[in-house]
Amino acid sequence: MRVLITGGAGFIGSHLSDLYISRGDEVFCIDDLSTGSFENIAHLKGNPRFRYTIDSVHNQPVMAELVDQCDVVFHLAAAVGVKLIVESPVRTIETNVRGTEVVLAQANKKKKKVLVASTSEVYGLSSEVPFKEDGNLVMGATTKGRWSYACSKAIDEFLALAYWREKKLPTVVVRLFNTVGPRQTGQYGMVIPTFVKQALSGRPLTVYGDGSQTRCFGYVKDVVGALVALMEKEESVGEVFNIGSSEEVSIMQLAERVKGLTGSKSEIVTVPYDEAYEEGFEDMPRRVPDTSKVSALTGFRPTVTLDEILRSVIEYYSGRQDGAAA
Ligand code: UDP
Repeated sequence: MRVLITGGAGFIGSHLSDLYISRGDEVFCIDDLSTGSFENIAHLKGNPRFRYTIDSVHNQPVMAELVDQCDVVFHLAAAVGVKLIVESPVRTIETNVRGTEVVLAQANKKKKKVLVASTSEVYGLSSEVPFKEDGNLVMGATTKGRWSYACSKAIDEFLALAYWREKKLPTVVVRLFNTVGPRQTGQYGMVIPTFVKQALSGRPLTVYGDGSQTRCFGYVKDVVGALVALMEKEESVGEVFNIGSSEEVSIMQLAERVKGLTGSKSEIVTVPYDEAYEEGFEDMPRRVPDTSKVSALTGFRPTVTLDEILRSVIEYYSGRQDGAAA
């Protein structure tokens, strides 16, 4: 099988590349290295079954050529990280909406199956926990930058599903819930790499708000396994799937666990949301996926506990020069 992965040098894309390469398949990756990093795929360089293109998915001739060479497409290239999104809303909207338009239009010419990565952000302020794929999406005001991310990904979802309904392009949408693991950078605000780096360097762990908000952290290797399984199933076409873990933890508990597992003497401090992001920032108090749909179709089941995930991230950053850097 020949697989095209947009955002292939990103955190999730590089793990997906690893999985396909380990299965004996061929991987073509395209990444503009805006948030991805060459380091994530450096170990694959030189493998005859791995090819990479450093370019943007907005480049239509390049995308056309790549789509032509491959059997299936994983569209993971997107603006990521709440911090980046709040600071660069124009880039977020344009990257997410235009990029997906190009990928779907090119895939449609050759009717290649496309999996579009969306996000649990689209549930927005919904309180119907655990979130189900057919539940309501509840967006905040357009004056709050965060929701531009949720809306741009919701447009991506609409477009992917419309291509299936209207043009019979086989598409699948996945909503990823706080995917974490080695190679994720804290640069764009993600909490686990941020806490791990803070703990390893003895700096205070910055809990935003009062820390009572909860998340479920999905291990990247479990998540990419689910993506591959969905790509293989015909029944996934035209459907939306939540992917994540159901082990719910508050951010304060998470900080305590990181501190305990690293043996760090760092203190844990709370930072108001207004200071951490922007004035009037709205966070989700709880975010828990209902993953029964993906489990029923693929047998998906998270295999790694939160403590094991944290140990893998601690190990990743312990061995690195930038482990202690900001
Ligand atoms: N968070 C935090 N300290 C940090 C970074 C994030 O307390 O240094 C919080 C953030 O406000 C959110 C949760 O941790 O409630 C998860 O944040 P992340 O950016 O990883 O993902 P999100 O769920 O917001 O997409």
